[in-house]
Amino acid sequence: MAIRIDGKVISTEIKDELKAHVAELAAAGKEICLAVIQVGNDKASTVYVSNKKKACEYIGIKSLAYELPEETTTEELLAIIEELNARADVNGILVQLPVPKHIDEEKILLAISPDKDVDGFHPVSVGRLNIGQKGFRSCTPAGVIQLLKRTGIAIDGKECVVIGRSNIVGKPMAAMLLAENGTVTVCHSHTKNLAEVTKRADILVVAIGKPKMITAEYVKEGATVIDVGIHRMDDGKLCGDVDFESVEPIAGAITPVPGGVGPMTIAMLMYNCVASAEMNE
Ligand code: NAD
Repeated sequence: MAIRIDGKVISTEIKDELKAHVAELAAAGKEICLAVIQVGNDKASTVYVSNKKKACEYIGIKSLAYELPEETTTEELLAIIEELNARADVNGILVQLPVPKHIDEEKILLAISPDKDVDGFHPVSVGRLNIGQKGFRSCTPAGVIQLLKRTGIAIDGKECVVIGRSNIVGKPMAAMLLAENGTVTVCHSHTKNLAEVTKRADILVVAIGKPKMITAEYVKEGATVIDVGIHRMDDGKLCGDVDFESVEPIAGAITPVPGGVGPMTIAMLMYNCVASAEMNE
């Protein structure tokens, strides 16, 4: 039976540490503030934004909410970002994705100051990660690193295989595992003989976006399996990219869905907000 890596417990631990730290900063007269911008009324985005606001409240971070109409233009959004970039009291700026199709997403992400880029999506943040400089790390893969470290799973010298090469999960995940001295292989939709590669992994991180694709045939006995995927099935239940029932009996440790990687993303966003206040002192 695999150890179940509990993202709810670990994310709460991180949020409680941050809460204590934010209280200390507040006592010294320093307030932390995150600006969250949502354009339009995408239902999933509204849930994500509301969860982010709740996490801010829990930790003691002030949140500035910008709920903009669907018709907002790229220029209008850029003007708000410019204003927030210039405000000394704003530590982090987050534009909830996806933005409506008529908005130039790349231009928007580039406009956010790298000093306030708490999502870690700006090319400067990506570059800093890749050359080992201090900077904001993409929240979901940063959460995976915390899950591993706080469960006592060593990365140094381990065979790490990441399935998926997206800019927000797969690629930064590979860079972060490499920074922790893992031996890293990245697999993607063109990888030949996927199971042969994934079976080498001591640590297998799965971010494919295909429900229950990874079964026991892809996993080495005793491996740590981290499932980043989230899907809502027809019966309303959530599942990941890993077939939990099939993999759990042979894995050494595994994250469930829900309650694994999911809660870590917001915890790491909060971490980035607090870090921002200190990085930019
Ligand atoms: P994406 O669609 O951008 O990327 C998927 C990647 O999987 C691609 O790089 C592709 O090459 C690879 N892939 C597709 N089919 C493959 C196959 N048959 N074999 C090998 N590789 C294959 O997805 P993403 O944004 O990286 O997200 C991946 C999953 O993680 C999704 O289920 C998403 O919902 C979830 N997600 C969860 C969180 C969280 O907070 N837990 C955050 C982001 C994404």
